[in-house]
Amino acid sequence: MKSNIDIKALDNAHHLHPFSTHHELREKGPRVITHAEGVYIYDEDGVRILDGMAGLWCVQLGYGRQELVDAATDAMKTLSYYNLFFQTTTPYAAKLADLISQKTPEGLDQITFACSGSEAVDGAIKLIWYYWNLKGKPEKKAIISRERAYHGSTVAAASLSGLPFMQGIFDLPLPRFHHIGPTPHYYEYGNAGESEHDFAMRCAKALEDKILELGPENVAAFAGEPVMGAGGLMLPPEGYWPEIERICRKYDILLWSDEVICGFGRTGEWFGCQTYGFTPDIMTMAKGVTSGYQPLSAIALNQRVAEPIINADTEMAHGFTYSGHPVAAAVAIRNIELIDELGLVGPRGEETSRYFQSKLKTLDDHPLVGQTRGVGLLGALELVKNKETKERFAPGGHAGVVCRGHCFETGVVMRAVGDTMFLCPPLVITNAEIDELFDLVRTALDKTA
Ligand code: PLP
Repeated sequence: MKSNIDIKALDNAHHLHPFSTHHELREKGPRVITHAEGVYIYDEDGVRILDGMAGLWCVQLGYGRQELVDAATDAMKTLSYYNLFFQTTTPYAAKLADLISQKTPEGLDQITFACSGSEAVDGAIKLIWYYWNLKGKPEKKAIISRERAYHGSTVAAASLSGLPFMQGIFDLPLPRFHHIGPTPHYYEYGNAGESEHDFAMRCAKALEDKILELGPENVAAFAGEPVMGAGGLMLPPEGYWPEIERICRKYDILLWSDEVICGFGRTGEWFGCQTYGFTPDIMTMAKGVTSGYQPLSAIALNQRVAEPIINADTEMAHGFTYSGHPVAAAVAIRNIELIDELGLVGPRGEETSRYFQSKLKTLDDHPLVGQTRGVGLLGALELVKNKETKERFAPGGHAGVVCRGHCFETGVVMRAVGDTMFLCPPLVITNAEIDELFDLVRTALDKTA
């Protein structure tokens, strides 16, 4: 799809991109993606690239699915827009709330909508504070999260995130947000001789210590990603989540699972908390809810949190013009139905995950790979200079060089943080495409070695 307009020049002249170093981008020029089909994206020169990242961790059903196009078209013709404010609803929003409540763990059946993951996170923070105000405990306001967590990029979501590079330049984090280490990632933070279970208990104990330091009467919630995603694809050590849940219950702290990446089949179940055996009070979700075809996010609350809000005399003065937009909701409904119909959370999903994880393991023998890890259709490679000593590449890491350079040249999209490379392909990827994916990844690594 070559156009006669110079898109690169146009982009360089007028466009400030998210999460980009602009002088670098303007020197090299962006790669222009013009169309996509299945698990492949295509650039303006017609080069086919296997999308190992499902866009930005979101395209569960792959690109160009006619059923989702039809759902959007029908909704746009029938009800192009209406809002959910002032005692109105739409069939789309009502049906979607019902459908999501059938997939969330038992009890988390009250749903409110927003447009992005960050907006859902922002909303969840407000609802948590509102809940404690309604409960007559207005001093319970501190929210604890983990170092290296990623929860989004609004003022509040960036404050909740544990990534200093997103904070300092904007004079964040805001007060009330507390970040604790160690990050629950055994490979990197486990001590010599420490078992994975003992490490998990040390990570959980750090939460208890922080609660006691702040005073349980001041702590509103603990927020975590079931698998930490954008900060480095880190899997929780064995026993971690049940212990976190126990500590939250002990001190009457709300437990919040941020499912923006893990939701909608990514870890093998509908939600990551189901994979890791814990039941939160509050969940945030986005991305996979529409397979990225439309911007939509949601917050799920359990009865305990929802009840005082439902019974309050004050209105829940929160929401957006496009919260639960009918076209986005129609796409989400069809997307969830298709995940069910295709067995992506179920037999087909299990088989694809098994195959994907077995192929990921085959990279363990590569001289650059210190560790592979994954769950469901998430996978990571940890690059090391020395496999024995786990010696790292220079500060800043090496994975970005491989991903932005060799992967793109080779024809596969992966993302990188430091020395970690991630994979998060569409859930509909076939075994043949998984073979191709890992061949391309190995080729890119070989070019680097
Ligand atoms: N929460 C988590 C766990 C995420 O991974 C992300 C984005 O990657 C967000 C929130 C923010 O979502 P969005 O980029 O849609 O605002």
